[in-house]
Amino acid sequence: MNRLSLAVLATTLFFGLASVKPSSDGNPTEIFGGATRFVNYKIFGKKYAKTPIYNSKLKGHAYYIVSGHGGPDPGAMTKKGKVWISEDEYAYDVSLRLARNLIGHGATVYMITRDENDGIRDEHILPMDKDETVWGGKSMPLNQKARLNQRTSIINKLYQTNKKKGYKKQRVIVTHVDSRYVGRKVDVFFYHNQNSSAGKSLAKTMFNTIKTEYTTHQKGRGYDGVVSSRDLWMLRETTPTTVYIELGNIQNSFDQKRLLIPSNRQAIANWLALGVLKEG
Ligand SMILES: [Zn+2]
Repeated sequence: MNRLSLAVLATTLFFGLASVKPSSDGNPTEIFGGATRFVNYKIFGKKYAKTPIYNSKLKGHAYYIVSGHGGPDPGAMTKKGKVWISEDEYAYDVSLRLARNLIGHGATVYMITRDENDGIRDEHILPMDKDETVWGGKSMPLNQKARLNQRTSIINKLYQTNKKKGYKKQRVIVTHVDSRYVGRKVDVFFYHNQNSSAGKSLAKTMFNTIKTEYTTHQKGRGYDGVVSSRDLWMLRETTPTTVYIELGNIQNSFDQKRLLIPSNRQAIANWLALGVLKEG
């Protein structure tokens, strides 16, 4: 077989598979296409440090990714078998996957809350730890208000610097895995500052994208997420456009399926990135 017919066969196989299982949610390259090059980022951990760059659609954008809680505060907790699992570890894992996807499209991304030795983890149970820090290396204060203030101060300072550098768009994405609706499945909720039309627009686009993807990949499942404004510190005190996302309720067994299965966490991160790309 010559090289051309090999290529044709490969293409047929690829699209043949693709039509059986449309865009496998957990595989970013099936959604974003092939990588043109790779850049190493230690924060993603050994397995994922090598970061694929697909294109430069988000060039000139800066993203500040903040996963909820961390350090002395694990956030919502629940017992899985004999072990305790906590919100901060799952929000962080999805956040890393999202950050990696955004970098892959040429964005400048800051992991504001960070864990230097965790990286992206392909496990169901993500062990709890308390060694999370913030961008710049400082540890997180115990007091909640001081902790949130630490995050917004870092973001707002970076915002001014990057504004001078000529960044076109700067956005904050906050992720949580606890919910006001304890005891029921909540799907994914998006919140924005009520005075921010850009925040509302981004939240709506991300919401609609994830809703469409759910309908495509899990027919008959239904989806009851929501977009609304909320008066929260991270929405009120941040200078850049901010979207606050609740990825589910870690205490709800239905939501746990989405959060504990690594390929599901990747799928959510892919769909969130797709939403950002749609908003442009
Ligand atoms: Zn939370």
